[in-house]
Amino acid sequence: MSDCLFCKIVEGKIPSESVHSDELCYAFNDISPQAPTHVLIVPRRHVPSIAELDDAALGGHLVMTAAAIAKRLGIDDGYRLVSNRGKRAGQSVFHLHWHLLGGRPMHWPPG
Ligand code: 5GP
Ligand code: ZN
Repeated sequence: MSDCLFCKIVEGKIPSESVHSDELCYAFNDISPQAPTHVLIVPRRHVPSIAELDDAALGGHLVMTAAAIAKRLGIDDGYRLVSNRGKRAGQSVFHLHWHLLGGRPMHWPPG
């Protein structure tokens, strides 16, 4: 999608701090981190949100990649993996992404 921010980041048209890259997904630091570690994991192909995800292998790959990134970045003792679906839940970029947050205590329930 030509007007999608995360498609442009995946394509390298907008710069980002790369954390992981493979044939199915790309991960990069959030521009406005909400924790000492705040990484976004996105599929390379455009999927608007988790509700439109139609590929179990891709979904599993995104989640398992997030867990591997957490280990590599040293936050494996406690992190949160969140995907906001819809404006009401706080989604502002309509290209599926997982937020990987760690490096500080996480509270529950979330806001
Ligand atoms: P959402 O609100 O859709 O769940 O998450 C979107 C996330 O994208 C936010 O945490 C926001 O800080 C991040 N973000 C928005 N624009 C950019 C950008 O240009 N670069 C990066 N690295 N992150 C962005
Ligand atoms: Zn996109």
